[in-house]
Amino acid sequence: MLASVASPAAAQRAAPVPLLPEPTVAALAGELSGSAARRNLEFIARQHRMRASAQFRVGADFIAAELRRYGLEEVSVLELPADGRTMYGTQKARPAWDPEAAELWEVRDEGDARTPVARVASFEDEPVVLAQDSDSADVTAELVDVGAGTSERDYAGKDVRGKLALIAAQPGAAAPLAVDRFGAAGMVSYAQNQVTAWWKEDERLVRWGHLDSFAGRRTFAFMVSLQQARRFQERLAKGERITLHAVVRAARHPGVYGVPTALIRGGGAARGEEIVFSCHLDHQRPGANDNASGCATTLEIARTLAKLIRDGKLARPARSIRFVWPCEVECTMALFHARPEMRARFRAVIHMDMVGGAPAATKAIFHVTRGPLSLPTFVNDVGQAFGAFVNAESDAYASGEGGRYPLVSPEGGKEPLLADLAEFSMGSDHEVYTEGSFRIPAIYLNDWPDRYIHTNFDTPANIDPTKLQRAAFIGAASALYLANLQSSDVPALWAVMQSATLRRSATMLERRAALPAAEGAALARAWLAAERGAFASIAAFAPVPADVRRQADAFYQRLEATLGGPVPPAGAPSGDAALVFERVAGITGPMSVFGYDYFDDHYRGATRPRLLSFQGPRGAGGEYAYEVLNLVDGRRAAAEIRDVVSAEYGPVTVEMVVEYLRALEAAGVVRARR
Ligand SMILES: [Zn+2]
Repeated sequence: MLASVASPAAAQRAAPVPLLPEPTVAALAGELSGSAARRNLEFIARQHRMRASAQFRVGADFIAAELRRYGLEEVSVLELPADGRTMYGTQKARPAWDPEAAELWEVRDEGDARTPVARVASFEDEPVVLAQDSDSADVTAELVDVGAGTSERDYAGKDVRGKLALIAAQPGAAAPLAVDRFGAAGMVSYAQNQVTAWWKEDERLVRWGHLDSFAGRRTFAFMVSLQQARRFQERLAKGERITLHAVVRAARHPGVYGVPTALIRGGGAARGEEIVFSCHLDHQRPGANDNASGCATTLEIARTLAKLIRDGKLARPARSIRFVWPCEVECTMALFHARPEMRARFRAVIHMDMVGGAPAATKAIFHVTRGPLSLPTFVNDVGQAFGAFVNAESDAYASGEGGRYPLVSPEGGKEPLLADLAEFSMGSDHEVYTEGSFRIPAIYLNDWPDRYIHTNFDTPANIDPTKLQRAAFIGAASALYLANLQSSDVPALWAVMQSATLRRSATMLERRAALPAAEGAALARAWLAAERGAFASIAAFAPVPADVRRQADAFYQRLEATLGGPVPPAGAPSGDAALVFERVAGITGPMSVFGYDYFDDHYRGATRPRLLSFQGPRGAGGEYAYEVLNLVDGRRAAAEIRDVVSAEYGPVTVEMVVEYLRALEAAGVVRARR
């Protein structure tokens, strides 16, 4: 009865198309294929994509070949040194690492005869079993359980010299003690998955392991499941001796990062400017969601846009659209510094890292994530407007109530997308784009959590083609909009931004209500300045009509009055809080990059700045530190920087901010202005 009452009107349910002309949306929805994206994902997921390795190159060459087949322009695989020495801003290039073979066997020695008992791990079977940056070895030795392996106590009363240490920690964390100090020949690690609610739950998982890429030591580590480790531990606890034979053929060596890239050349006066699609092509096999999914989705967008333009269904965009498939963070840093003329053309990036996790399998929630508060931009409202559109259309469809653009793959799910329109989070290449040295706005599409991330179970079977198709749509629609944005589009954009600002104001008010008055006033000031900054950022893309500018001024003034009026700071900052810092030329990029930390390598101070281990209500030390440096611009006083990071992640003291800025000064990254 309910259904018969509800259905006639409900069948009409459809969300208004935001920002783009409907024929453009219809063309994208009619061409994008989640199934095609998953087929490409399946190929990429077969490769063990270690940085600058032979199999990474197989993936890169596959992408370049597909791009040529699709008719993209300027297709190439850029080759940038991965030599262990070159500095790309704050990223030291890691050497290439090429694994060829690795086996771990349990053996029994009887007199002169050695009998294999059981295969413990095989690179041929699952390449993830060999920790990254392992060196060649051929060792037969006893296994010794040392617990975590990261504290001296773990080794008390145990002799690991020349033996294999069974460790719970990542090999890179245990190596200084296990190998350097106590002389282990190698390690067997059952390091567990990244921490989520499903942590340690699935004892079959084998996690991707890491050693220090720059360490002079030569060693190796095998990664095993918790199940395997527990079997070993039970036997060792009973006093049994376990002898293992480890064979590794792998090497770190000077090599090249291969970064596939292609272009859709713009047709307007702004064709020298580029909207970028980024992802990351590296990671362990299979690495299906992290991140063959982002790579294959980007490839599908390239195919779709090239075809629609060729078929006359889409006009050539005014700005150019660039596609890149780097290795995570380090290749983006290499690209930015080895090809500064290319980076100078980048106006915005759409970065995809994990965009296909089937919810039932991976438990993933999809996010359309904004940039940091240090870089206010309208670009984030564009991405989230398309995210909200797909949410509404897919929900109407799933509920049997309509939805003209459900974006459903015949091989995929029919569930609503339910994308979370999220505030900034770190963790992938987008944080290089938005960094204070580059300030390129970023839309970040990402799944979190994923209970199989960085394990042998991150397989193509867990990928939902419908989700790939929807991520592709949000990305493609955002890119087309940004590539074509002109003055006549600004009134509709402003309407989208007003409603987004008001939604965010509700969140800001909730946070302010929990703060003391002065802190609350600082929050409101920083928040409103960022909202105004987002509006001001439109001018870099298109002239803002005078009437829209007037409307916006009036809107922000009324909003400020509604929020309790402008509350200026109690007084001008004094003492250390008034210090103004500027970046040192040439030290470009974030402090923590990939497999390397510029701050740790250059800071010689006796004590570690407290900010780095601070935990705020919405952010950890690394996030505060990233933003503090981003806000260094030669004008803002330390007190103002404190206000912005406090608005973003929760209150922090100005002393902690100044202490970190002084440490950055000692590391040669910033200098105080006189
Ligand atoms: Zn990733």
